[in-house]
Amino acid sequence: MKKVFFKTFGCRTNIYDTEVMISQLKDFTLTKDENEADIVVVNSCTVTNGADSGVRNYINQIHHKNKKVIMAGCGVFNKAQKLHSDGKVFGVIGHSKKHEINELLKGEKSFFELGNLEYIDEKIVTKYHAKSKAFLKIQEGCDFRCSYCIIPYVRGNARSQDEKKILNQVQSLASNGYEEFVLTGTNIGSYGKDKGTSLGKLLQQMGKINGIKRIRLGSIEPVQIDESFKEILKEEWLERHLHLALQHTNEQMLKIMRRRNKLKNDLELFEFLANCGFALGTDFIVGHPGESEEIWQDALRNFKFFPITHLHAFTYSKRDNTPSANMKNQIDKQIAKTRLKQINEITKQKNLLFRKNQLSPLLVHVESKKDGFFHGYDQFYNQIHIKSTKNLLKSWINIKHYEVKDNQNEATI
Ligand code: SF4
Repeated sequence: MKKVFFKTFGCRTNIYDTEVMISQLKDFTLTKDENEADIVVVNSCTVTNGADSGVRNYINQIHHKNKKVIMAGCGVFNKAQKLHSDGKVFGVIGHSKKHEINELLKGEKSFFELGNLEYIDEKIVTKYHAKSKAFLKIQEGCDFRCSYCIIPYVRGNARSQDEKKILNQVQSLASNGYEEFVLTGTNIGSYGKDKGTSLGKLLQQMGKINGIKRIRLGSIEPVQIDESFKEILKEEWLERHLHLALQHTNEQMLKIMRRRNKLKNDLELFEFLANCGFALGTDFIVGHPGESEEIWQDALRNFKFFPITHLHAFTYSKRDNTPSANMKNQIDKQIAKTRLKQINEITKQKNLLFRKNQLSPLLVHVESKKDGFFHGYDQFYNQIHIKSTKNLLKSWINIKHYEVKDNQNEATI
């Protein structure tokens, strides 16, 4: 049987899509070694111009090794045509065609199957490879149109997976021994809008399934926290960490970015959730066009008031064919880097303080072992390194005594 290697770029949604493709392979074997592969499937990301060049460089490199290259993922909608006609890519698989991967790979002829952007995944994935937790894609696409973002154009508008299908999938994974679930999608907070339900209502149902110890959620938009969501905040299975995408903390910049969230409401929401005992993460783009020094200073001042414990901040990176790419007042890269450093440093201190002030024991799911330590995350999504003579892999442990270090907690048991 021919050997297939998968290379995944980008976000959790792509990790999920790779798993869907792997689950469809019947006439091939999977390899983890790119060098011994006959076929390399590149699940691409196109979120920035930089992401595009990363994918392109990788495809060039693999093409030179005489592998059959198949391109899938978000990049196929704007970059595959050229790579295909240049002969660098043998086949192209759009999102809605990934279930057909086995048949497509069996054929001898080059193919270009873009599919459509209205589909929703049909298959139920019941097992993940070498992972202690399962990722579930509950929806596709996004109805927002943030000015810097290409995603809605390559993933389509928001549409939700059928609730029954998701619950069956969870049931099946739970009976296969999975205890931790991560809900993903392009914009998971919009779940159910097209079906007269909501993310909160889905979670209420999921929480009833036996065997679930923890549910983690991908990024949610602040405007999507509704009453049904607030009803589940006390549930034990809900991770005590939420990730709410602010993207900025200056009112004017939120408008330039065409965001739906508003500073005052954001701050009230974060304070409310922090008071409910949640660690809170956010996304932040620094150096977006128009971020003057005055705007930046105001954003920093505001940011300090937010009870944030985790940050996924990055410098703005141009994405062609988005409104932001053509805006005036693009920000110097060096300035953006300095700002990034500032905001990361503030968050590091906030996280340290949060961990120092933590009184409850840590509930840790041990995921891996590296350099003599077991690694896992607690209920607040903080990392912990554990020294032990026992094999703790995949176990759940309650840890009362531990040391708070700069970047993580440490314990010996
Ligand atoms: S919410 Fe905004 S940033 Fe997120 S996927 Fe939708 S358009 Fe892009």
